Amino acid sequence: MSAVTYPTRRNDLMPLVRVLTTGGTIASRRAADGRVVAADSADEVLRAVVPVEGVSIAAEEVFRVGSYRLTLPDVRELANRVRWASKEADGVVVTHGTDTMEETAYFLDLVHDGSVPVVVTGAQRNAESADADGPHNLRDAVRLASEPAARDIGVVVAMAGRVLSARQVTKVNTLALDAFAAPDGGQLGRIDPETVRLLATPRRRPAFDLDTIDGALPRVDVVPLHLGADGTFVRAARQAGARGLVLDAFGAGNVTPDVLRATEQVLAAGLLVLVTSRCHAGPVSPVYGAGGGADLAAAGAVLAGDLRAAKARVLLTLALAAGGDAGRATELLHPHVRP
Ligand code: ASP
Repeated sequence: MSAVTYPTRRNDLMPLVRVLTTGGTIASRRAADGRVVAADSADEVLRAVVPVEGVSIAAEEVFRVGSYRLTLPDVRELANRVRWASKEADGVVVTHGTDTMEETAYFLDLVHDGSVPVVVTGAQRNAESADADGPHNLRDAVRLASEPAARDIGVVVAMAGRVLSARQVTKVNTLALDAFAAPDGGQLGRIDPETVRLLATPRRRPAFDLDTIDGALPRVDVVPLHLGADGTFVRAARQAGARGLVLDAFGAGNVTPDVLRATEQVLAAGLLVLVTSRCHAGPVSPVYGAGGGADLAAAGAVLAGDLRAAKARVLLTLALAAGGDAGRATELLHPHVRP
């Protein structure tokens, strides 16, 4: 007996959840050379899942790759597929590699409109492990996506029983099953064997119109700060054609004197600069001078609130793509960096 049913339209008797697969460990197996690679089709990914009583599932494959191979244009294509899927479903689930799951979830969240929940999930152990966590995570994701209380929750990640907001979620462990956390208040609920408990609904911010994120996406680079860092990579980003830059700064948003100098130069040349913190929680704030966040803000950099660097890069890319010029892009990104 097949573990899932594959209706193409919503049947009024049962909620319909559309599952879009993209590869990742949840779809991976050991190849002949011993290396683990994405291998399973959408049907194969779903075959291992114990049916959720009273829920219809329709599955389709979007990609079949490790998420470390995905690009922002790929994620844009996925976002289009999610948009279509959500028109005719009560919930959408995306299966995805864990490495870049937080960026994809945030991208999907930035363009998500409407009340259909989108739940992103994956696995830490591949599909042929005796103790594979993928089927369990996917079943939980379907349960959450079909849950009436999840309407209006936006895009979330569901892994190892946790429900985490797309904005806050981050991978905190390379191999452990419980690999995701939301250190800055993004834990929204729990999925237990008997119950789905939602404790909070994330604040929704204005969605970007996906149709305006078209064409070649602008280059945005991330420069990580470390003790004594100089401005080489800031200048290199400009030379490489970046239109935006994320400084993954110290503490509350501080950089070294040379990075400040280089940043002032690229700002004067018209780049948009977002400042994030390499700390795991807490916002950046214009407190310090002599290379601190106050100097960066005075030079025209935008402090990115509680967003971490990889997500700030997604936001800045979308704002530049949708806004066209730096002024409009700044307006578009502001609601997303405000507390
Ligand atoms: N470790 C990854 C995963 O969990 C590989 C990837 O991101 O695709 O799926």
